[in-house]
Amino acid sequence: MVSKEVVRIEDRQDRWRYVCPRGHRSWEPTNHHFWCQKCAAHDDVDGVFEELSDRKTGALLARDRVRLVTQVGPYDRDLDGEGPA
Ligand SMILES: [Zn+2]
Repeated sequence: MVSKEVVRIEDRQDRWRYVCPRGHRSWEPTNHHFWCQKCAAHDDVDGVFEELSDRKTGALLARDRVRLVTQVGPYDRDLDGEGPA
C-alpha cells in the first residue's frame, strides 16, 4: 500500500507548499484531477491539471497520491477508502 501525502487544503502553509504546475496557489480539487483558477483565466489553458507540485520536495503528486483534508475532515472519503471496515 502506498502512503499518501496529506494536504490540508485550507491550511496556509500547505497552500504555499502545494501548487499547480505553473506555481499558482489558486487550485481546487475536482473528482479525479485538480483545477486552477488562475490557469483557467488564460485563454489557451482550461485550468485542469493532474499532478500537484510539492515545492518542498519537487515531487509531482497525482490525485490518488494525496489525501486531501479540510477543516471538517477528509475531502473525499470514497477515494481514500475510509468508510467503515
Ligand atoms: Zn495555475
